[in-house]
Amino acid sequence: MLMPRREQDGWCPFAEHAPSTRYWLGNRGRRAVVLHSAEGSYRGTIAWLQNGSVQVSAHFVVSRSGQIAQLISTDDSAWANGLAWQNGGWVNARGVAVRPRWPGLTPGVNPNWQTISIEHEGSHRDPWPEAMRNATLRLLRWLGVRHSLRYSGGQTLIGHGDLDPLDRPNCPGHHVDFDRLAEAANDPTTGVAQGVQQESPICGPASGELEPTVRYVERQLGPTSEYRRDVATIMGYYWQHAPAVGVDPFLAAVQCVHETGSLQSQWAARPRRNPAGLGVHDEGGLSFPSWEVAVQAHLGQLLAFALSDEAATPAQRVMMERNPRFGRISPSMRGSVQQLGDLSGRWAPDPEYAAKMVARSQAILQAF
Ligand SMILES: [Zn+2]
Repeated sequence: MLMPRREQDGWCPFAEHAPSTRYWLGNRGRRAVVLHSAEGSYRGTIAWLQNGSVQVSAHFVVSRSGQIAQLISTDDSAWANGLAWQNGGWVNARGVAVRPRWPGLTPGVNPNWQTISIEHEGSHRDPWPEAMRNATLRLLRWLGVRHSLRYSGGQTLIGHGDLDPLDRPNCPGHHVDFDRLAEAANDPTTGVAQGVQQESPICGPASGELEPTVRYVERQLGPTSEYRRDVATIMGYYWQHAPAVGVDPFLAAVQCVHETGSLQSQWAARPRRNPAGLGVHDEGGLSFPSWEVAVQAHLGQLLAFALSDEAATPAQRVMMERNPRFGRISPSMRGSVQQLGDLSGRWAPDPEYAAKMVARSQAILQAF
């Protein structure tokens, strides 16, 4: 049986799961995160760390476009660094004596037991694209919270070259500024998610992340709520289904959080599971058999408001038709909502509707 991979078991909620069997069970404390350059493609590196001919692995692989794959739970130990303790000294993967720079090393304890490793797509010669840096920052923040790490360059945020300066001096490469990265990773207000504004396009990249959204809703929910254990699953459907049809998953999730008062409204309760007041005004409100179906109907309605039939791709058209009230949307609404601000007076009569979503988005980001 395939067991679900849960955050409490060391699986990052915003990473793609690509499990590898190359690890040691457990760890001996998390003292640092080690950054690597994969010297290969994202998919090629994942495959190599799963079944390549050399027995190596890493916890994470980050792509140049900002995708994150997780191969090993952060509670377990990857085979990433190639150091071993022999006859009272350190040797590298070739068995050659080395003098590692990392002051966190414990004589006799393989640093794989004490570190979490992140591989980065591409060559050590190339500077990291913004999307890759942001994805790494996001991952470092999650790791920092989960493993109580405060980052400091050369101490708790290091490179492979700090462990094997002989054979891996260029891993991850001289473009990586550990001090600046550590500083940004320690400060949750820099970079990455800016949240939604009135001008945010309905069809656009993610303007915020799943994790703070889940944390926010979980904090809002009362202890007896029927959804206490389901928040990550329900909100996860937005990140699962929205990007494939070009919708900003955070924007849609913020709308759900706003419309349902963090899943606490009567409309959100089972058996209705109505995520965003779908059909409430015209049809007495819709009910959905599951949240996954409900979220897709919600995304379909956003798409129908944002796009005419001619402007929609086949995948967008399919999503629109998953909305049971697709055929009843007034033709004047089709394609009338390009930006969040356009929802005011259209999705809901309230002229402040979009402004309230912007405020909600800020509250969610501050919940991190
Ligand atoms: Zn490396």
